[in-house]
Amino acid sequence: MARIETPNRIRGTQDIFGEEQRRFARVLETFDHVRKLYCFQRVDIPVFEATGVFARSMGETSDVVSKEMYTFEDKGGDLITLRPEFTAGICRAYITEGWQQYAPIKLVTSGPVFRYERPQKGRFRQFHQLDAEILGAADPAADVELLVLADQLLRELGIEDVTLQLNTLGDAETRDAWRSALVAHFEAHKDQLSEDSLVRLEKNPMRILDSKDPKDRPIADSAPDIDAYLTEEAAAFFKAVTDGLDAAGVQWTRNSRLVRGLDYYRHTAFEFVTDKLGAQGTVLAGGRYDGLVGNLGGPETPGVGWAAGVERLAMMIAEPAAENPDVIIAVEDDRALGHSQRAIRLLRDNGFSADMIATGSPRKRYDKAAKVNAKVLVSFRLQDDEVVTNIRSATPTDEYVRVSQLLESLA
Ligand code: ATP
Ligand code: MG
Repeated sequence: MARIETPNRIRGTQDIFGEEQRRFARVLETFDHVRKLYCFQRVDIPVFEATGVFARSMGETSDVVSKEMYTFEDKGGDLITLRPEFTAGICRAYITEGWQQYAPIKLVTSGPVFRYERPQKGRFRQFHQLDAEILGAADPAADVELLVLADQLLRELGIEDVTLQLNTLGDAETRDAWRSALVAHFEAHKDQLSEDSLVRLEKNPMRILDSKDPKDRPIADSAPDIDAYLTEEAAAFFKAVTDGLDAAGVQWTRNSRLVRGLDYYRHTAFEFVTDKLGAQGTVLAGGRYDGLVGNLGGPETPGVGWAAGVERLAMMIAEPAAENPDVIIAVEDDRALGHSQRAIRLLRDNGFSADMIATGSPRKRYDKAAKVNAKVLVSFRLQDDEVVTNIRSATPTDEYVRVSQLLESLA
């Protein structure tokens, strides 16, 4: 007989179950709680967009656009990409939905994103992000608010040992001047750069600064800092951000090598980094992207935002307690099944979580129910054709009283 081949899970995807599912849920609930405290509204946007949305906003030379996008032609011949991040899609929506009328607008979203990468611990091809953005706010207070939000999120998740690394990439004038200085420095040490960085030198020289190749590090580390090139405005902007963080009590350190992968960053760039996750140490990252909406053909609109990896956050939180029902029902006699079904419906209608054990050997059902970690154990059996109800609780709780009252009301 021919063996039927079992299907495989696609490499880099996940089936999220059990403890992992509880960890995910905790991260998402906490994010929803904190975003409300900061008065950010939730949006949901499409999982796929026209490829140009990402290609134009993230930059053709970025790792994501040049190597990592899931792009395909749909049946109508349109070029489609599964979102590799949220920012570009949110900016597209800002333009097409006319959200300018609400500016400044504070938004969050979350969900799956897709990148064709080599899967490893903390790195998947379909992973999940939390995302927070402020559009239409040019002042550094917006950067501060987003960073304080991120800091509170991490604290409420109980995640410690994370450092906020902060840098400025300046304004356009700063960036151009710094870029020229970097190119001069790297050109002078061309023979000591890795293959990849030689390509970066042509296309995106700033990316050499955050190269992970050990061969590049000495040249990257000795490259000129941006500080000497900051315009007065750019310097004042960065000072306002750091002053705001200090005022709000958020710890940070300067990392003058932090440039982030995407072309669209201006001024503030940041990463929350841990050494607990090996090479996948960045849990949350973002920055200011004032040119992005304009680049996509929309009105010139300042923007700032961040994204966090749900998988990486979920790995760092304490294990959430298992979900146990308030009430477990043992149906000790099949003739009591109808009564049990009425009872469990009544309990659930009244807000109790409840489950029922009504299969397998009737004599073993009580013991099975006793092993469930419920607050109240109810059993139904038959005596002289009458249903006999037994209610047990480890400690006499409020639940015990309420459950008893509800079950008494069942004739
Ligand atoms: P990395 O340097 O780890 O590739 P990145 O700079 O590409 O990260 P961002 O584009 O800033 O990441 O995405 C924001 C966050 O999403 C990251 O800080 C990380 O927590 C998470 N993340 C990014 N790529 C993956 C992935 N492939 N699998 C799981 N989480 C990811
Ligand atoms: Mg990446």
